[in-house]
Amino acid sequence: MSQETTKCLIIGSGPAGHTAAIYASRANLSPILYEGITPGGQLTITTEIENFPGFPEGITGPELMERMKQQSHKFGADIRFGIVTEVDFSKRPFKVRVDDAHEILAETVIIATGATAKYLGLESESRLRGQGVSACATCDGFFYKGQDVAVVGGGDTACEEAGYLAGICKKVYLIVRKDHLRASKAMQHKVFNTPNIEVLFQHVTREVLGDDQTGVTGALLHDKDGNNVVIDISGFFLAIGHHPNTEVFKGQIELDAEGYIVPVAGTPRTNVPGVFVAGDVKDPHYRQAISAAGSGCMAALEAERFLMMHE
Ligand code: NDP
Repeated sequence: MSQETTKCLIIGSGPAGHTAAIYASRANLSPILYEGITPGGQLTITTEIENFPGFPEGITGPELMERMKQQSHKFGADIRFGIVTEVDFSKRPFKVRVDDAHEILAETVIIATGATAKYLGLESESRLRGQGVSACATCDGFFYKGQDVAVVGGGDTACEEAGYLAGICKKVYLIVRKDHLRASKAMQHKVFNTPNIEVLFQHVTREVLGDDQTGVTGALLHDKDGNNVVIDISGFFLAIGHHPNTEVFKGQIELDAEGYIVPVAGTPRTNVPGVFVAGDVKDPHYRQAISAAGSGCMAALEAERFLMMHE
């Protein structure tokens, strides 16, 4: 197996990974960045982004990520396609295996592997993704201004997104599979007191209706008695949770019950000195491109400081 060494290895290529790469390159750490399964991360599967500062005219997710990649590259980051298949964080330098074929000995590691939104798994849902089906109301809700939309889920995210959409859209259906919401009482209170949110308890989605030409036009639901219910909507938002992409780190670093990496409070440090974390892989709450980018910056600054102290 081939082997090489680096001062700083960055795993992941979303806003957190590339911001870390920009800062680490400019600090002369010559970082190597592995892009992972989805180069560019979750933004590459969204459409227009209108809330990333600096782009008043908006920018598409793929274009924003391409620009971040160009900026990392410009300052000398070594960006590679590859998937980390094994890590050993028991001592420094840390051993990281890529594609089961190449081993990197890294003085510091920045984990920015992100999270993946859960989908229901319907064929119609994946066919209409980006054409009315979205897992991010704050990213895509604005495109449905004045229209009717639906949100699936009964947790805090679903309630928060329903509240957000209610401020933009004419009507929001909240599709909940159980007879109650899992969200906090405060969130529930807000949902029940927003006149243009209608909660459909004990309803499950069987099909998202629409085609390539029209985008989403509705959804076919089943109520608790198995009756068909059709709602007319132009946006269908999933808010049924995320999986943090941490499988490969199990047993090597502290994870919480949901699998998110646990940082030392208020810092990008982890329980392993020299391993830092940035972005959605440690953040079940905010999950924004800008917050991920900010934490990527913090992780690179900490990696730089760590190397200065340990040289
Ligand atoms: P949660 O896991 O809390 O909730 C997921 C919801 O989706 C549940 O209601 C679940 O239903 C439902 N669900 C899951 N799978 C399906 C499916 N296949 N079909 C239909 N419904 C499904 O995820 P969240 O993203 O809401 O929250 C994650 C964490 O982030 C939580 O700890 C939450 O408190 C926190 N958070 C806090 C916020 C805040 O404080 N402002 C804002 C957003 C999130 P069921 O209940 O039946 O299992």
